[in-house]
Amino acid sequence: MALQIEPCPFCGSEHLHMVVHSLTYSVACQSCRCRGPQRENQELAVMQWNATSRTHARAASTLTPEAVEQKGELVNQRLPGLMAKRESKPAREL
Ligand SMILES: [Zn+2]
Repeated sequence: MALQIEPCPFCGSEHLHMVVHSLTYSVACQSCRCRGPQRENQELAVMQWNATSRTHARAASTLTPEAVEQKGELVNQRLPGLMAKRESKPAREL
């Protein structure tokens, strides 16, 4: 059966190709050089690539400014030394 491959979740490119590893396959984007997960056959690699594409699209559509801010706070908790620096700057200037 023919599997429909979805465009790159990161740059939207349809310039994709299959990378053959020694025992596994993965889909790679020729435009931004990102690569999908390695799977034991081409069909699974494409299915996993498509799942990643859909997950990414969903995440991007639900990414609110509040969610971005929460993510920033988590980073600050892990790196307390950077907090003072970050507070003096606008949140988007990381
Ligand atoms: Zn890409």
